[in-house]
This record gives sequence, C-alpha cells and structure tokens, in this order.
Amino acid sequence: MSEPAATARPLDRRFGAYGGRYVPETLIPALDELEAAWVEARADPAFAEELAVLLRDYAGRPTPLYRARRLSEAAGRTVYLKREDLLHTGAHKLNNALGQALLARRMGKARIIAETGAGQHGVATATACALLGLECVVYMGSEDMRRQRPNVERMGLLGAEVAPVEAGARTLKEAVSEAIRDWVTNAGHSHYVLGSAVGPAPYPALVRDLQRVIGDEARAQILAAEGRLPDRVIACVGGGSNAIGTFVAFAADADVELIGVEAAGEGIDSGRHSAPLSTGARGILHGSLSAVMQDTDGQIVEAHSVSAGLDYPGSGPEHAHLRDSGRARYVAVTDDDAVAAFRRLCRLEGIVPALEPAHAVAWLLGSGVEAAAGTGPVTANGDGAGLAGGFRASNEGLDLLTLSGRGDKDLAEVLELG
Ligand SMILES: *Cc1c(COP(=O)(O)O)cnc(C)c1O
Repeated sequence: MSEPAATARPLDRRFGAYGGRYVPETLIPALDELEAAWVEARADPAFAEELAVLLRDYAGRPTPLYRARRLSEAAGRTVYLKREDLLHTGAHKLNNALGQALLARRMGKARIIAETGAGQHGVATATACALLGLECVVYMGSEDMRRQRPNVERMGLLGAEVAPVEAGARTLKEAVSEAIRDWVTNAGHSHYVLGSAVGPAPYPALVRDLQRVIGDEARAQILAAEGRLPDRVIACVGGGSNAIGTFVAFAADADVELIGVEAAGEGIDSGRHSAPLSTGARGILHGSLSAVMQDTDGQIVEAHSVSAGLDYPGSGPEHAHLRDSGRARYVAVTDDDAVAAFRRLCRLEGIVPALEPAHAVAWLLGSGVEAAAGTGPVTANGDGAGLAGGFRASNEGLDLLTLSGRGDKDLAEVLELG
C-alpha cells in the first residue's frame, strides 16, 4: 500500500511538538485501523445522525446553559454554567463512551476494553455497552475498587466485568497500562475506549471530536442568551476531555480567554498535586508526549487530588500545545479551596457539583493560583498578572464555566472532611 497523501489524514497526530504514538510497534495497526474508521465515520451523515439521536433521546442533550445568578453575584461577573452534570450517568464522560461504542460496533468489534479510576468512565462505558449489547471489560486498580465500591457494583449491574489491577499503586495509571496490554493482544475483535483526551494518536483527536458537542452547544446557547461570546471560558482539566471539548469551539474566537483549572492538591509546593500543565516537564505517558509529572530520571510521579477524576499525572497533548502557544492559560486550585467551592455552590445555586468542576468554580471565586513558572524544559504560560481572574471584580465580565459532572459520587468524601 502506498503512503496516503497528507490530506487523507485529517486527524491531528501532533499538537505542536506534543502527541504522537510512543507505543510498541504491535499497537500501530490497531491505531491505524481506529484512525481510518473515525475519519470515515465522522464524515458519514448516517453515523452522525445515529449518535445525535442517542445523545438527544437517551443521554439528554442538549444540556442546559444556565445563568447562575447567585454565583454571578458572588463572583462579581455574569456566569453561565454548562450543565453536563445533568447528562445521563451524571457527567460528560458519556459523550465519549457512547461515540466510541458506536464506532466499535461499526468496526465490527463486539468486545470493549476500558480503564477507570474513580469509576466514572467505567460506568459510562458499561452503560454504552449495555445499550448497544457489547461485551465490556473494565480494568480498575484494586485500591480504586476499594475506594469506589458503589461504582464497581454499578458496572456489575450494567453487565460489565471489572478486572482488578494489582500492579504498582493499584490506581488509574496501572489500569490504563493493563487496558493497553489487553488491547495489544485482542485488537482483532476488541476496541479500547480510552476515557480522556490522552494516549497515542488518534485518541486525543477522537475524544476531542466526541466531546466537542459541549462547546458547540454552549457557544450557540450563550450567543442566543447574551447576543455575544463570553470573555472567558473556564473548565477543569484532568486528562482534559471536558476542557478541550469546550475550548475547541471557541479556539478561533481570539477575544475569548480559555482557562483550564488543574488540581493543586495539597499545594504545588508540597509536590502532592495533579497539575502537570502548571508545573510539568515534557514527558511521555501512555503513548503520548505531553505535560507529565515525572522525576529527573523520567519516571512518572504519583498524582494527588481530592478529586479522583483529576488524579492523573498527565494531561492531553493538545492542552500542552495550547499552553505553549499561549492560546489557553492553566491555573491550579488546592483540595481545600475546591471543597470550599463545592459547599459554596450547593448553597448558592442548589447544585451539588462534582469535586472536579468545583476546582473551576473555586478559581472563578478567586481562590486559584496562576500557573507557576515552569520547572522543566517547557515553561508554563503565565500572563504575569499574578492574580486569579476572580479578583478582577467587574459586573461587565461574562464567563462560561463547564460544570462537567454532579457530586453525588463525592458526598462521602466531602462529608468525611467535615
Ligand atoms: C473524569 C472527570 C473529569 C476529568 O476528566 P477530563 O478528561 O479532564 O474531563 C472532570 N469532571 C468530571 C465530572 C469527571 O467525571
């Protein structure tokens, strides 16, 4: 087969220097097959229609864009919340799981592999598999299984097999590695549903494309409501899927500031955080070159965050590129500030947010810290203002914040903290 022309490969494999496919050769054919399938599927109106109908009638799209009046008062600016917390299964992850499960069926793969940390992506994938009648195996660290018992039970009810992973810290990083191992062996009849905009190409582009529905809807909704674009678009960043799905719709709107909020955990200086974009050197994790938390030998450092969904030592390559290019800005919020914002939003709006987007709410309310000067070869992009945007009190500001999920899953954790 001759090398296809560049135009036949419209999916991004690199984002600036980042991304790529740092994987064993044995995985390349499966990645090529997936890339070709997505290029074809996303150009097929029948596929788009089938996915759109499921997202509408089954998952509950479009999700509302809600003008949060009391939160706006507290923030000193007008704030709209994009309510992904109201999506079926309680978070944005279903957008991606449903799209990839549909793609797998189209590719003739009847077995689905997934990884999960807190269990949210596992539940979303198990849900999509139940809906489409696909076999589902979810790898999960045994420590995470202990901490997230209800989600383990939920996946079982949905018909998925939860496969415990005993390696290393027995959490998400090890679960991803195990899922990749399974896929290398079984790619002929299995598709790996990766849960965020990370991993080897084409995953970062595929997941972004599937989460783009958040930003596309929100952009149209805020134009309809306000007759103009927001000044700032704010989203939390774990692997980065809800943020990139929101940002991408505004990327060409040069006047719209894009702000990603990472988890500072116990504080950036403590080393116990999950903020690779704010602090991380360039590194390779799970097949992709990106912002990664690593030691001087290049070994991956364990991440820490009160929120399980942000507790991952890497972030998607497109975010690393948006940071370096200056198009987006990345900030970080501590566990304590996120938990305080969680409680605050409950009282202000009658909305119990997930702890992940509570980080974004905390930054909005002024508790964030700007991205520090880079400690590695890639420096973070700070605008030098030195203050979180939340301090710029002005009633004229218009913000759009993606509330990526609801907080039912986090109640026990927050109540335990007192
Ligand atoms: C998993 C999760 C996240 C983090 O994942 P991204 O890929 O960064 O979006 C954020 N919010 C919620 C509610 C989640 O479940």
